[in-house]
Amino acid sequence: MQATGGPESCNSVNMMRLTEALYQMDGRMDRVDYYERVLLNHIAGNFDPETGMCCYYTSMRPGQYRVYADPYGCFWCCVGTGLQAPAKLARMVYANYEDTLFVNMFLPTTLDWKERGFALEQQTAYPDKDTSSLVIRQGGRLKLAIRCPYCWNPAHYVSAFVARIIIMLRRKKVTARAVTS
Ligand SMILES: [Zn+2]
Repeated sequence: MQATGGPESCNSVNMMRLTEALYQMDGRMDRVDYYERVLLNHIAGNFDPETGMCCYYTSMRPGQYRVYADPYGCFWCCVGTGLQAPAKLARMVYANYEDTLFVNMFLPTTLDWKERGFALEQQTAYPDKDTSSLVIRQGGRLKLAIRCPYCWNPAHYVSAFVARIIIMLRRKKVTARAVTS
């Protein structure tokens, strides 16, 4: 691989924006799969861990160096979307449609759904760990739909995933069933 360039994060941020709009129209889970891949594989690794400044090209070349923006000398397209990107971190974690709450992504977050009187806290180290705990802080009557990540698509993973959720919920005397779409 000779090329030192690579994808610009401004493209990824704008694709995430488009994906948000498409998801709001059709609710397709493959939109969330895509969104998660972009968020974890590109946007999360786009920032200098010391300064918080973002880089321009994120090369796929092994061992390639990165050039990060500086606060006064650079204002690339990716710096502009780099200011917007942190707002994407929690944007698609939860969604709702009528009385259903969708847990779309696995990120440590809190949700306070005031209109439904419902609040939860998600505790997870995903993708470093393959577990996520949903702690319901304030009850409410609603349907909870939890996304099964695309990388768990083989049938045995899906079955184990759903079975474990059902067992855990039945202990709390909550009705649960598997739904595929
Ligand atoms: Zn750019």
